[in-house]
Amino acid sequence: MDYAARQRRLAAQLSESGIEALLVTHLPNIYYLCGFQGSAGVLLFLADRRNPKLTFYTDGRYTQQAAEQVKGAKVVISRKKSALVEAAERIQTLKPATSGFESEHLSYAAYKQLAKLLRGKTDLKPVAGAVEDLRAIKDEAEIERIRAAVSLADSLFPAVLTTIRPGTPESVVAGELELRARRAGAEKMSFDTIVASGTRSALPHGRASSQAIPAAGFIILDYGVILTGYCSDMTRTVHVGRASKAHRQMYEAVREAQLASMEAVRPGIEAGEVDGAGRRLLKKAGYGAYFTHSTGHGVGIEVHEAPRLAKGQTRKLAPGMVITIEPGIYIPGKGGVRIEDMVLVTESGHEVLTPTTKDLIEL
Ligand code: ZN
Ligand code: ZN
Repeated sequence: MDYAARQRRLAAQLSESGIEALLVTHLPNIYYLCGFQGSAGVLLFLADRRNPKLTFYTDGRYTQQAAEQVKGAKVVISRKKSALVEAAERIQTLKPATSGFESEHLSYAAYKQLAKLLRGKTDLKPVAGAVEDLRAIKDEAEIERIRAAVSLADSLFPAVLTTIRPGTPESVVAGELELRARRAGAEKMSFDTIVASGTRSALPHGRASSQAIPAAGFIILDYGVILTGYCSDMTRTVHVGRASKAHRQMYEAVREAQLASMEAVRPGIEAGEVDGAGRRLLKKAGYGAYFTHSTGHGVGIEVHEAPRLAKGQTRKLAPGMVITIEPGIYIPGKGGVRIEDMVLVTESGHEVLTPTTKDLIEL
């Protein structure tokens, strides 16, 4: 991982907005900037354009892990004070004119503590999405890791189908899938596995429940794995028993909308237009009111990250972005369908990363 390049990019961006120091408290951002994968710490980023200086503060539980993982940052193990206080004391000494904090990732209590420590020493400014903006564009090494996570998740799909039987609880299907994922080397799942069968398939986020799978109807399977720190995310909807004509129509409408949105993916297009491409088709087919969420999201260190693919989003897609395309139809009391692939934005257009079949599977 080229941490130095990421650090230089962030330094340039912060310098432009007049921020001399940034307190990074969001762990995925810390991982991105210096490789630390533990669950506590604060990174102080001094934004010298040519030579950014990073100090990572954590506690005694992470002495060994920080020594092994942290790259391109000095490590300080806090003994008596919290990592945040130690970082703030460093700012007290350096007195940068303006210091940023991650306003979306700092508790109110921590903010008050910081404001008290830094009063009169620096101008404390909220910063939102600075590191997240950089993370939206993946480098080659990240794309490779994402490909591996996508491929592992895809390899589990045929096996999970064999566990789906009427009468089996959804949670058992999820459990079997997760056990197989761990056996195949996944660090963990990207999020709580969704197995939503029968009328529960009308819940866009129906986490696997104790409900037994009914004798007929759709099942939405939405899952992902984390491999070497990077997430995958995919959804397939299969049918228990033979699908009725109405169910076939629903499935085909979602598949066509999903293909239309994927076709639209290219550098320079606004995220909202990609959403519109699929949404228009669902509307035309009479399902407009049943597509109740946005089309997709970026995937990387976190399973939901920038950019958002939703109505009105004007951010332009750019090469290196990895996004999901996942339209759906949810008819309350009846059932639902969603199909989700991961897509890489390339120089010339896009590449669909998820290889899993989208033909309607009847079990
Ligand atoms: Zn998903
Ligand atoms: Zn998703």
